[in-house]
Amino acid sequence: MLGIVKKIFGDTNERDVKRIMKTVDIINNMEPEFEALSHDELQGKTAEFRERLEKGETLEQLLPEAFATVREAAKRQLGMRHFDVQMIGGIALHEGKISEMRTGEGKTLVGTLPVYLNALEGKGAHVVTVNDYLAKRDSLQMGRIYNYLGMEVGVNLSGMKHEEKQAAYACDITYGTNNEFGFDYLRDNMVLYKEQMVQRPLHFCIIDEVDSILIDEARTPLIISGQAQKSTELYFAADRFVKSLKAEDDYTVDIKVKSVALTETGVEKAENFFGLENLYDNGNVTINHHVVQALKANAIMHRDVDYVVADGEVLIVDEFTGRLMAGRRYSDGLHQAIEAKENLDVQNESMTLATITFQNYFRMYKKLAGMTGTAKTEEEEFKKIYGLEVLQVPTNRINQRKDAPDVVYKSVQSKFRAVVDEIVVRHEKNQPVLVGTVSIENSELLSEMLKRKGIKHQVLNAKYHAEEAEIISRAGQPGTVTIATNMAGRGTDIILGEGVAEVGGLHIIGTERHESRRIDNQLRGRAGRQGDPGSTQFYLSLGDELMKRFGADNVMNMMEKLGFEEDQPIESRMITRAVESAQRRVEGSNFDMRKIVLQYDDVMNKQREIIYKQRREVLESDNIREVVLQMIKPCIERVVEVHCNDDIPENWELQEVADYVNNNFLLENAISEAELHEQEKEEMVNYLFERVELRYLQREKEIGEETIREFEKVVVLRAVDRKWMDHIDAMEQLRQGIHLRAYGGTDPLREYQFEGFEMFNQMVADIQEEVAGYVMRAQIQTQQERQAVVDTSQVSTNSSESAEKRPSREERRRRRK
Ligand code: ADP
Repeated sequence: MLGIVKKIFGDTNERDVKRIMKTVDIINNMEPEFEALSHDELQGKTAEFRERLEKGETLEQLLPEAFATVREAAKRQLGMRHFDVQMIGGIALHEGKISEMRTGEGKTLVGTLPVYLNALEGKGAHVVTVNDYLAKRDSLQMGRIYNYLGMEVGVNLSGMKHEEKQAAYACDITYGTNNEFGFDYLRDNMVLYKEQMVQRPLHFCIIDEVDSILIDEARTPLIISGQAQKSTELYFAADRFVKSLKAEDDYTVDIKVKSVALTETGVEKAENFFGLENLYDNGNVTINHHVVQALKANAIMHRDVDYVVADGEVLIVDEFTGRLMAGRRYSDGLHQAIEAKENLDVQNESMTLATITFQNYFRMYKKLAGMTGTAKTEEEEFKKIYGLEVLQVPTNRINQRKDAPDVVYKSVQSKFRAVVDEIVVRHEKNQPVLVGTVSIENSELLSEMLKRKGIKHQVLNAKYHAEEAEIISRAGQPGTVTIATNMAGRGTDIILGEGVAEVGGLHIIGTERHESRRIDNQLRGRAGRQGDPGSTQFYLSLGDELMKRFGADNVMNMMEKLGFEEDQPIESRMITRAVESAQRRVEGSNFDMRKIVLQYDDVMNKQREIIYKQRREVLESDNIREVVLQMIKPCIERVVEVHCNDDIPENWELQEVADYVNNNFLLENAISEAELHEQEKEEMVNYLFERVELRYLQREKEIGEETIREFEKVVVLRAVDRKWMDHIDAMEQLRQGIHLRAYGGTDPLREYQFEGFEMFNQMVADIQEEVAGYVMRAQIQTQQERQAVVDTSQVSTNSSESAEKRPSREERRRRRK
């Protein structure tokens, strides 16, 4: 076998395969010993391995025995013995690589080897499939091996209750789709009580069809969105209210720190205006927030200085350069408050609650591996972006499939006529034909044409996974004609019917070349499984998308000159090569685009990691007293920094510092300016912080330990969630607007990184300020309830298909107009 390997594959691949074969030999030598084991002995292996792991043996040391155990279990439970090449694939997966194995080589069974081994650690092993149907099917079938060996298998399906999900995740092994795993991660970071989380830390993951998930869907983010808040009216009400207030009497302003605070009378007026008992009640958070933002909009933000109004929109002016910052919006509702102040349409569409790309989700696993029939063409991308190497695993039997060169027709119509003719010919000799199309439309067109010829056939559109799997599994029966889009019936085995091998096996017709060679290879791969006979051919036309984009004109001219008729095709290797080089160019530019997207994503990804990590700490800790105090301190530092930045201490604005601290954290006139004289900056911060701490201690006593502890959590979670969700939208806007800034030579990515960083810092400061303000000033009742920022029953998720169709913000805005 290795002789063949050498001819087909490059050198490093061959070396790797040879290296791995040594381990396979060791496993093979163990086989008689494992065959001789009783059921009890074989089943006892799991406990034995776990014990040895505990005692310090590594997974690598256990690998040969563990693989021998799984093979023996598969023989007894499924009647299937892992082939040597499947062992090679399994070892590569354990090494955190991508195993490229052709369709039909039995990847599902391969997965059991590394999954069992890695699940021994008891930290969870996830197997990702492309749809729920496959997750269920594979977990059931392969579950017979795992269960036999004493491991629990769970399936994670959409729509499950969170107790069911927790149970699925608590299993040794969990099957599920990429979407479901990703959404669970996002939802776990939105829960209000730690008991509601379902996932454990992400440990080991094998992705089936890894190319379609990490490459084709790489740019599709998972999005959890909520109802857009319907509080537009409140912005105007708050605006009317604050316009009725008097500075100093009703509120205080610190222009430099850009902070505002209502005085006692101000609070009273607000309660009267909005008809409230207590402005600081839990139920009045939204009103309070709108009032604060309206105050800022009116008292701090100045038209034509901080912002301008153009075309009914508020545009921010960069305070240093004076240029307009297209796409950038003030966060936390301030932008909307300014819109209300200027009597414009309030753009209130904070919708995205959480979002992550598959790229970023899967990169969080401690170890990641993947399987697919087609990875080599994208090897560079896997390596660069995910650090995943691709190992091409030799086939179990010699491949007999014949790939004929492409044929090209002048028009789409003549192409489809030829396809139908070809089907008729093959059908007459009872050979099964599988036709791949690029769209549902084309499938239906072809179906119409076949009907007219009276040829019985099946059409699959990747809608009903279970039924389609059933149909595809029969696509190799004599005389069957199946039309399928690329996604339809994936992961299902096509077994040849009786007499089919004699008439050439399954024949595949491609009706258009895809942008990526990989997708074409997937279609081809459906024929010639496990050494079966089979053949493939692509039918193209000059009207095809890819041909129109690349050099169809030349071919057309050539065809004209040579006097080709409408229905006369060109069939040549040259054209196949030309098409492939066009595909290579498209693949390259798609890769570049994905790289750029990734660079943009990285900005948000780092921010998300920080926020989620801290949120989790808050959720999991019983007492966040220290966290809260450490949020108050930076507020003081900022105010001191801003007001005491003059080289001459006599010029420091100590009154402002004292006012800010009194107004926000203490009682009126608690600290006088005089107390701050003669202090160094650091000293002053420490002094002020001590005073605030004293007041905090006092409040703690008054309010009671238990109450304040829960109150702090309520306040922190609410502030973090609301401002983070708002920030997601603000960043998205920035990303879309950043390209409008075409000043000499600015790099939009760097600009985005820079501003994204600034906005993040601002958000953190906002969170600190809000938490500090509430903890230090709110009247606290004993009844506390953690509240989701949005009604969770209104939350919805995008499936991967709808994500791409999600209109951009610009688009949504245009539609509304
Ligand atoms: P792939 O996903 O690689 O296309 P599948 O996992 O669908 O392949 O397996 C293809 C078929 O081969 C299935 O019917 C499976 O049961 C069978 N198969 C896989 N491995 C073995 C084996 N070692 N012995 C016998 N049959 C096998």
